[in-house]
Amino acid sequence: MSHPAASPHEADDAVLDDVVTSLVQIEAAISALEAERFRQLARAHAVAAGRSVHRPRSVQEREIALRSIAAEVGVALRWHDRTAQRRITEAGALVEDFPATVTALDEAKITARHAEVIREVGEPLLEPESRQEFERRVLTRAERDTVAGTRAFAQAVAQELEPRSITERHDDEVDRRRVWVDDDIGRPAIDPTHAHPPGGLGAIRAEVSVVIPVLTAVGASERGAMLDGCAPVDADTARHLFAEAPGWERLLTDPVTGVVLGVDRYRPTPAMRRFVRLRDVHCRFPGCRQPARRCEIDHNLAHATGGPTTLCNLACLCKRHHVLKTETPWTAAQQSGGSIVWTSPLGRRTTDPPERRVAFAPDPDPHPDPDPPPF
Ligand SMILES: [Zn+2]
Repeated sequence: MSHPAASPHEADDAVLDDVVTSLVQIEAAISALEAERFRQLARAHAVAAGRSVHRPRSVQEREIALRSIAAEVGVALRWHDRTAQRRITEAGALVEDFPATVTALDEAKITARHAEVIREVGEPLLEPESRQEFERRVLTRAERDTVAGTRAFAQAVAQELEPRSITERHDDEVDRRRVWVDDDIGRPAIDPTHAHPPGGLGAIRAEVSVVIPVLTAVGASERGAMLDGCAPVDADTARHLFAEAPGWERLLTDPVTGVVLGVDRYRPTPAMRRFVRLRDVHCRFPGCRQPARRCEIDHNLAHATGGPTTLCNLACLCKRHHVLKTETPWTAAQQSGGSIVWTSPLGRRTTDPPERRVAFAPDPDPHPDPDPPPF
């Protein structure tokens, strides 16, 4: 009960004062949690980066490692894995390059949006000293200004600390333009599948004859394969082509003479493709909405390891998630009814049920025709 002498205004003021105090406390708790979320996402980023330290990898392979981790995080949090990947990358940059900002967020001196402005505007500063100076000055401002005010101030500071004008930097980049041929890779790398059109192996969609020993296809042997009987290809490239090819004829050959003993077909029929597309509606990776017409048909249990070309082993996957499943330890197993159980590299399981279609039941006719036509 309010004090008997208090006017209605004073009672309202007391409520509002309590509201403001509570909001300040809530925001402080959220800021500390957001700092902790940035730190955890940055740990995931460090794991993705660390894996490539032990074994030198191409940019594409590092991208695949990060994607697999992003999918792990995304599925657990119901974020799209692209969103997870972006947040992991951004958190990695924030924690590594702007540590004082994360501390200020933890202490609720700034909000997460202030922190993002500092990272976004400060990231192009390449000199560590410039970055530190930028962070120090912008943090002081962020502690007392709105996000918009902080952004304008940060842009001015970044301009001041970048000694060369944007025109000079542009001219430098123009001078540095080069076209070169680099042949020290030896074999094509995994494609950046988000590119349009995809480059390298991703662009190969012709019917190419490659003889791949089964033990090479399943990864049990590194013996390589023969391209159309004339050129050998290494085992990794053979497996990549095998996973990406739209169709395969399986040849059973005599192990001694090499004579073809039998042929069967791996490719789903057009009717199967139609059925799977209509059933799935979109890519079947958890959370992905890429329309089925833009997806590839995946064998949930790979054909190379005995997975049959049957409706209950086929599903639509977009290019990104098809590559994820092929290149990383993510696995998919289809159950009766079309549900797919995904198992992540950490062994976490998620079930993706097939899309339910809306059923249209006819309305009962309120005025039945008393004299229906005679047919
Ligand atoms: Zn997808």
